[in-house]
Amino acid sequence: MLYLVEDFYSIQGEGKFVGTPSLFFRFGGCNLRCPNFGEYFIQGKKVFGCDSIQAVSKELFGKKWRAIEKMEELQEILDSHLEHLDFKPHVVLTGGEPLIYWNDKILYAFVEYLVREGFIVTIETNATIAIDFERYEAYKDVIFAMAVKLSNSGERYEKRVNKEAIDAIVKNTGYSFFKFTLSRSLVEFRAYEEIVDIVGEYPEVEVFCMPLGDRLEELKKHDKAVAEFCMIYGFIYSDRLQVRLWNREKRR
Ligand code: SF4
Repeated sequence: MLYLVEDFYSIQGEGKFVGTPSLFFRFGGCNLRCPNFGEYFIQGKKVFGCDSIQAVSKELFGKKWRAIEKMEELQEILDSHLEHLDFKPHVVLTGGEPLIYWNDKILYAFVEYLVREGFIVTIETNATIAIDFERYEAYKDVIFAMAVKLSNSGERYEKRVNKEAIDAIVKNTGYSFFKFTLSRSLVEFRAYEEIVDIVGEYPEVEVFCMPLGDRLEELKKHDKAVAEFCMIYGFIYSDRLQVRLWNREKRR
């Protein structure tokens, strides 16, 4: 069984496929917390976490998550979106951390189905969970957006960087990319060293850097510093188009 937090049709706002019409499946649960990414008042309590906290904290939000008990439920959701489209959108599996379910038979069957049907599938992951690509071959046809966390996440290095997991993704997929979230202060401090430690062995893999912030005001505090950082070191700047377009309104 796995948990689905929401499904929605929108455009991809980050990374390689910015602007691409995409159908998102957001799964519940994450193996990290990233306490430095934000603070929220929820049910009268101050809670630290990322902008996907509703997909991370089972304690606070689990009651709103939908328990999925068979793959056909995901297929039905997919079909309900496709009814309104006459083309195949990209499909994005996100979270939380969708790979906490990587060997769950429902998720894997869904990935197999999507790949077989010719969808372009991206899994947005923190790349800390190692997949067995030999036993679960369909993942070889998936694009992984490896959003490895840096020190500004507030997570310990040992928890947020798993080089074995990254190596397996890079070596087993045709195209995957790195996507880092940077704050102005990290750019000024040691972002380059931290990124090179993670990507240094993979000069062929594209590296996207995007500013921290799930609100326009916050994004603007970091965006120019991140863009200038990319220009100095040859990384690719990624905006957060969904924030520019809709800020905190519900995504369309
Ligand atoms: S890894 Fe991603 S989803 Fe999980 S807590 Fe960190 S930012 Fe949030």
